[in-house]
Amino acid sequence: MTAIHDESAPVSWLELAACRGKPIEWWYRTDELGQGVALAICRRCPVRRSCLADALDQESECAYRYGVRGGRTATQRAAL
Ligand code: SF4
Repeated sequence: MTAIHDESAPVSWLELAACRGKPIEWWYRTDELGQGVALAICRRCPVRRSCLADALDQESECAYRYGVRGGRTATQRAAL
């Protein structure tokens, strides 16, 4: 019999995200205070590097960047 959930399977980094379960609009504010809240949560996120790598990978195929991802604002990511 095959197990439905393989507990030895690697967990997706998304499941460990500090933003999981929080209002997504917190990551899409454009004011400094709003971005500060998102950046503070990202700073203690255990998967920040994976998140940033994913964002940079996706954004390399288009010129459109928005929101805080991987602990960086869109402007900060554009400068990387
Ligand atoms: S680094 Fe990425 S996954 Fe972690 S809290 Fe920030 S946006 Fe969410």
